[in-house]
Parts: sequence; C-alpha cells; structure tokens
Amino acid sequence: MPKPYVLQKEQELRIEVREGHSLTLKLVKGQAEVFGTDLLEQQIYTLRGQKLAVFSWEGCEVQLQGVGEPVEDAIEVIYESDDTPMREYANVHNLLQTRREAALASKFEGPRTMVVGQVDVGKSTLCKILLNYAIRRDCAPTMIDLDLGQGSIAPPACIGATPVEGPIDVEEGLPVEMPLVYFSGNVSPEPNPHLYRHHVERMAALLDKRAQSNAEVGAAGMVINSMGWIDGLGYELILHSLKTFRVDIILVIGQDKLYSQLSSVFRSDRRMNVIKLTRSGGVVMRPREYRKSSREQRIREYFYGPRNDLQPSSSTVPFTNLKVYRVGSGFAAPQSALPIGGQSYSNPLKVTQMLNMNDLLHMIVAVSHAQQPEELLSANVAGFVWISNVDPVQQTVTYLAPCAGELPAPFLLAGTLKTYFR
Ligand code: ATP
Repeated sequence: MPKPYVLQKEQELRIEVREGHSLTLKLVKGQAEVFGTDLLEQQIYTLRGQKLAVFSWEGCEVQLQGVGEPVEDAIEVIYESDDTPMREYANVHNLLQTRREAALASKFEGPRTMVVGQVDVGKSTLCKILLNYAIRRDCAPTMIDLDLGQGSIAPPACIGATPVEGPIDVEEGLPVEMPLVYFSGNVSPEPNPHLYRHHVERMAALLDKRAQSNAEVGAAGMVINSMGWIDGLGYELILHSLKTFRVDIILVIGQDKLYSQLSSVFRSDRRMNVIKLTRSGGVVMRPREYRKSSREQRIREYFYGPRNDLQPSSSTVPFTNLKVYRVGSGFAAPQSALPIGGQSYSNPLKVTQMLNMNDLLHMIVAVSHAQQPEELLSANVAGFVWISNVDPVQQTVTYLAPCAGELPAPFLLAGTLKTYFR
C-alpha cells in the first residue's frame, strides 16, 4: 500500500533508503522538488538506496511505496522538518542569477562559485540545487567537481566538468554526455598534489577558452564542488583551485574557521565574496566504509549503468597491445625533508611506461585522449577499463570496457585505484 505524506509550505521530507533497497516516490498534488529538480505530478520515481529530501515551497502531498516489500522495510530513516536552509540557498541563487543576467548584458564573465566545507556538510547537494535553479531560468552553468573521492561527474580518482543543460535526474543524477575528465589514479590528491594542481590548471584553461568563445556559456558561469579536505595541504589545494578558476563567490557551508580563514585571505580582493551558509540538518554523515562502498558503486555504475542495464564487454589482448603509463616516478620529497640546500630530483609529473603487467590486476585504468606518451600528463580521458585478469603464462590481459570494440585511443593511464566487483 502506498503511504501518503503531506508537506506544508517550506517543509521537507527527509528519506534515507536502505542500501540495496528501493522505493517509489510519487507527487500526488502540489509543488515538490528534490534538491532543486521539480517533481512531475503523478510520475513514479524509483529511489535506490538514496538519501534525499523532498522539499516543497508551496505544500504538497507525496506517496511512497516499497518495491516488492513494505515501504517501512526499504526505509532506514524518514522524518519531516521545517528547519531547512532552503531560503538562504534560494537567496544565493538570486544573487548568482542577477550576476548572470548582468554578465550577459555586458558580455562579461558570469559568476564563478565554489562550494567549500568539510566532508558531509551538503556541498554536492547545494551545487545540485544551484544548478537546477539556474536551469529553471534558462541558464546552463558549467558544473565542475574537484572531489577525487566522491565526485559526481566521473568515476572516483577523477576531476570532471560538464555543462548542465537540463534538470538533474532524481534517479540517475547529473546528465553527463561529454564530460571533460582528468584521471589522477588516486582517490585523494595527497600522494601526488603536483598532478592534482596540474589537472586543475589544465581544466581551468580549457574551460576559460570555452567561456571566451561563447558569451552565454561565459555568462552562465561555473558551479564548482570542492573536496572535503580543508586542513593543511587540503586547504592549500582549495586556495590553488580558487585562484586557478578565478572564483569570485565562495560559499562556505557550516565551518566558521574556514569562513574566517578565507575571508581574511581575500579581504583585499574587491571582486571576491565569501558567504557563510548553514549546513542542513538533513545532510547524512557517511562513515568511511560507506564512502568506500559508494565509490565501488560509482565504478560499477560506470560499467553496468545505474539501473544495471548496460552490458560491458570483456576482451583479452596480448601484453604488447596495451601501452599503460603512470604519472610520478616516485614523488618529489618535500623541501622540509631535504638537507639544507638539497634538491629533490624525482619528478612527480614524470610519465613512465608500466612494464610489469601483473601490477594491473583489478585496476581501473583510464583510456587517454593522448596521441603520444608525452601528451599523457595533460590529456583528458575518453573512458575507463577494468583489468579483470592478467595471465603471465599466456602474456595476456583481460579487460572490461563499457562497450565492445577496440579501445578509442592507444594509451592508457594507471594509478592505484582497484576494484573487485563483489
Ligand atoms: P562530501 O564532501 O563527502 O562529498 P558533501 O558535503 O558533498 O559530502 P552531500 O553529498 O551533499 O555532502 O550530502 C551527504 C548526503 O546527505 C548525500 O547522500 C545527500 O543526498 C544527503 N542529503 C543532503 N541534504 C539532505 C537533506 N536535506 N535530507 C536528506 N538527505 C540529505
């Protein structure tokens, strides 16, 4: 039996679907949205293991129903709340929209917004809301995700960018047709921050060109999601990204210290706005294990689709057919670890071919757009394969690719990212 829920104006229904379970959501009447995506009346949405809020500006009635089980069995947590930061977030949207319109009229650049804060403060969620509200006003900002661990545009270990031209699908997330993706091979920038900075700079340069060649793209601006690592090196990398993307609006969620640090760094920068926002009480804390399993889920979705309806293809090729490279032949020692006057000679951006194919077993490997090995460092990636077997006797490698046929490019990039498809 469907279970009805009635929401009053500016209330939200917070739902945590159990991992591995599904339920359906239907808007019976009124207005309702999921992180800025308007729900269509009478349409059935299937929620698979998601944690989300159905919010209503006007009030509404929705129904939930379990899939093959009572709805109670599919739900971990459910409650209504009228204590939400949605008004604050809508005010930010209005500010961005005013800037976009002014930019379009004057042919200047639109707002470049970066959302920062610790892990689990709702950064990705705020990005979704701002993007969806921009779409409603016929703007298509570029979404950039700089989080290697829990990115929304590409599989883990990547940073990605994509124009968002339609509302974000409640069931499947961001529509990403042709994303711009850089693969660092690791779910954290810590092992090779040089490579992370390099990719951020490459991406910003390409997006700048795109914005300059199309006034509407430039005026729509950027919405940038950052990683939740905000201390030490993490903070340095956030500063680097803010400067590289020439961000002019920083949205700090729920972190007084970070807000005060950034406000003082940019105090003399007249174009910069640092805005503090409330963390929603609905944001769900995700323990380390959950993050790991959601990374594995992202990788699985890349190959098998979010509804498990894609059929990846397996191929076996001789070792000699695969040219696999790695960036960073041993990372440069920090200056503090060297004797006075000493120099680190190892190059964190050096690209070297992997000669021991056994190391590839179970790795996620990126197929680079590079046409020459020298281009591997700076080229974005076309897709990914998973190495399911390495046979040292037959000297062959078996890999899973999202579709059959030859790989779209000859050079592959490996890192340390492995998965086992349990
Ligand atoms: P990270 O830094 O780890 O990427 P984050 O700061 O980007 O985390 P989100 O991914 O936005 O945080 O939110 C964490 C989880 O909480 C997500 O599963 C999201 O769908 C859920 N969530 C966010 N806001 C709400 C809400 N109001 N009600 C219910 N769930 C919510």
